[in-house]
Amino acid sequence: MSAAHAKPAQIGAAPARIDVSADLDALELVFEGDASLRLSAGALRAGCRCAFCVRARFDGVFPERFDGIAITGTAPVGGYAVNIAFSDGHNRGIYPWSLLRALGSE
Ligand SMILES: [Zn+2]
Repeated sequence: MSAAHAKPAQIGAAPARIDVSADLDALELVFEGDASLRLSAGALRAGCRCAFCVRARFDGVFPERFDGIAITGTAPVGGYAVNIAFSDGHNRGIYPWSLLRALGSE
């Protein structure tokens, strides 16, 4: 059997809960074992890896900051990621757990 299996701090581990903060300005993830992560809506929007945003960065037209942006919705994606919708109308971003952890450590 593989040894690369189910460590508590495994980078791909799914959070036990995903909550949007009351004022919609942050996403709060709670992992097994009480570890938690809070990511601002602005950091999440700026960290979007969808094709549109990747292209915008490549073209040099991607904003550096998204001040005042809010999270308007979240939806699970296949058990490995969450889709996040933002108040600027952008809803194409897929955020795998590993990306959320990476954004949280920046
Ligand atoms: Zn995007």
